[in-house]
Amino acid sequence: MTTTAAIWRNPESYLAAERPDAPVLFFAPAVLTASAKRFLTGFPGLVTYAVKSNSEPAVVMTLIAAGVKAWDVASPAEIELIRGLDPDAALHYHNPAKSRGEIGFALDHGVRTFSVDSVVELDKVAAIAAERGVAAADVEISVRFKLPVRGAAYDFGAKFGASPEKAAALLRQAQGLGMVASLTFHPGTQCETADAWVSYIHQAARIAEDAGVSLRRLNVGGGFPGALYGERFDLEAIFEAIGAARDAAFGPDMPLVCEPGRGLVSGCMTLAARVKLVREDGAVFLNDGVYGALDEFPVLGRTHSYRVLTPEGLPREGDARPVIFFGPTCDSVDRLPGDNLAPAGIAEDDVVVFEAMGAYGSVTATSFNGYGGLRSVLVSEL
Ligand SMILES: *Cc1c(COP(=O)(O)O)cnc(C)c1O
Repeated sequence: MTTTAAIWRNPESYLAAERPDAPVLFFAPAVLTASAKRFLTGFPGLVTYAVKSNSEPAVVMTLIAAGVKAWDVASPAEIELIRGLDPDAALHYHNPAKSRGEIGFALDHGVRTFSVDSVVELDKVAAIAAERGVAAADVEISVRFKLPVRGAAYDFGAKFGASPEKAAALLRQAQGLGMVASLTFHPGTQCETADAWVSYIHQAARIAEDAGVSLRRLNVGGGFPGALYGERFDLEAIFEAIGAARDAAFGPDMPLVCEPGRGLVSGCMTLAARVKLVREDGAVFLNDGVYGALDEFPVLGRTHSYRVLTPEGLPREGDARPVIFFGPTCDSVDRLPGDNLAPAGIAEDDVVVFEAMGAYGSVTATSFNGYGGLRSVLVSEL
């Protein structure tokens, strides 16, 4: 991705002046800073950023400047990226399936917190720490557990997480090996209310009690909602409910950690895709699609909110009509999901600006069929 040095006022001013033929990702650092402050001020515990949701160095640097000091990483590349930008950062390696080489790499880079959801993985971390001469008491094991919880846009428990019984056994085993024991979960991405967190936090207290282990801390994962479809969420109410559930389940002294990805970064970027063709049958072909930065839309089953601009960067007026948006590749699944509308006069060279593209957009885009060449542009406002 290429980044221009200038800061434009907003996407409209750039689009009108430059008329780019490639899709453009607009990044507003000021919006990201405000979002980071909201988490750092409001969340009743340590905020660790889930690097996978957007690992662009400009994003990480903005978060460091805003005061984020701890990071949820899931691969050696993410460890290297954060270590390079923030040498003193606390890194939590919260991928419950790691190769021995990856665990060794993490230990060599100062990582001391690891999540596990199996005995096999726990034994691997213990063995490799011992080989490296890292004292067991310096290693924190965060046991990842899962509940059958609904309410998220998609379910993170489908891949990772031990049952509550197994999690209790893992806590005892970690303690037996002399390691520091914590619990962690991920309630599922885009949770619009605090209900899932509240159930998980109460279950965490029962697991710790069954295990007879006192936790070092409780990590409540990510899942904080982004404004993908135009609605704004009351994050402060979610933070408050999480704090209240902690107080009720454990008492106020249990340290909390969270790992926001989407809720922290989604609002700081929009994506502009140009209309390449409006066919006689009304189908609209864009220069980005589900193999590019819009790749998460089919998983979520909906297209993010968007606005349609003329080539001059003005709102395209006109009554809304149903529209099918196709992406630029020759693959027929390259089509945006949901029932979408566009102004009846939408025309070639118009631009569709998709909201809330800061998480799981550019980082998962492919160059399939020769597309996917995104340009990144800084703006003061979105
Ligand atoms: C992806 C992930 C996150 C971030 O999830 P969001 O729903 O984007 O907030 C947090 N923690 C872990 C372990 C993850 O895998």
